[in-house]
Amino acid sequence: MSDESMISTASLLKNRRVQSVLTSIKDRESVTIEQQVALSETAAPTFDEGLRSQLFQDLLVRTGVHDVLPDADGNVIGRIGNVGNGPVLMITAHLDTVFDADTDVAVTKKGAKLYGPGICDDSRGLAAVLSVAKALVEIEDELSGGILIGANVCEEGKGNLNGIKQLMNAYNFDAFITVDGATPDRLITQATGCLSYVVEFEGPGGHSFGNFGRPSAIHAAARSATAIADISVPEEPKTIYNVGVLRGGVTETAIGFSCRMEIDLRSTDDRELAILDTKVRDIIIAAVERENDISDCEAGRVSFDMRQTVDIPTGSQAPDAPLVHAAAEGLRSVGLEPQMQEAATTDANVPISRGVQAVCMPGGGTGSGLHSTNESYDITNSHLGPQAVFIAALLAVGLTGISPLLEAESKVNCESTK
Ligand SMILES: [Zn+2]
Repeated sequence: MSDESMISTASLLKNRRVQSVLTSIKDRESVTIEQQVALSETAAPTFDEGLRSQLFQDLLVRTGVHDVLPDADGNVIGRIGNVGNGPVLMITAHLDTVFDADTDVAVTKKGAKLYGPGICDDSRGLAAVLSVAKALVEIEDELSGGILIGANVCEEGKGNLNGIKQLMNAYNFDAFITVDGATPDRLITQATGCLSYVVEFEGPGGHSFGNFGRPSAIHAAARSATAIADISVPEEPKTIYNVGVLRGGVTETAIGFSCRMEIDLRSTDDRELAILDTKVRDIIIAAVERENDISDCEAGRVSFDMRQTVDIPTGSQAPDAPLVHAAAEGLRSVGLEPQMQEAATTDANVPISRGVQAVCMPGGGTGSGLHSTNESYDITNSHLGPQAVFIAALLAVGLTGISPLLEAESKVNCESTK
């Protein structure tokens, strides 16, 4: 970054038009909250985001964004400014939730709080993106670079970050902001890697009394879970495991003939994640061997099938990367001191792991009880979220008289921004 291209946030904030757009973000926050509720009340389990995607698309079109384009999977992207001529920033929030189609997604309000599964994660991000889109359209004629803005599918769990992976294949962009999270000043710039598995144990089954001594799929799974729970992992780099599902059997008088285990492994460090991965595999092999060794296997042995469902890469970027700087300045410009200590698993993982600058910015307001049916969202000062993302976007792609922080590395025609 040359001195010339260093941007003073102060001069941006002195710009009259920028000030007036910031005011309009605040003024329409009640509409943004209404949209957040409407999106949240439209169920969107991972792999089944269609209805919410359609609603989001309609709302995005109404912001004045150009060329709003849904793809076959439900990702929706529109364009603002000079895409293909200057640096390009992509901004999205994720459509999917962890809740299944049967979950009651009605939203209730009590004081400053909204209650409903998914009301924060990531209905807030989606609503904030709509507000940011409208704000950027208002100042579009002055943008130096371009914005690709919208929503993506498949962020949660077994979605495997497939939405952002598809968008990375379909579009060229120089940097990426995902709007997600529950804490108004938290800025995520590092990517926690994640491996998930479904392990199916199977055995011969039989009567608990009559066939006592046969190997049990449930006992083998339980041995595995217990040993996994005893693994010691480093606090730093943060490394975790979780046996999130252990399900099998039909009744207490039947020897378990099948059992399903679902495991989540995460680390901010590739090497630690690989070490943990090997330990877990070894544990399962040993647990099944042990169950067979002490059993009468004439009717059959316990076996297992281990299938990987999620493979999300770790990654890190320089703390002074231009987009990190822009995002931090965005938060500071609305009076929030960015908290950047923790890595996390977000849509930003994919670009970061491929060398593209990316951050996860909060959508404003405060969420709690995420991924539970008790999820809630406090709307206090929620307008600060879209305001911060708006400023970050302007700093990133540049405005008349203010050079962009990003460089259009992947673009052929970048001369006009220099
Ligand atoms: Zn989320």
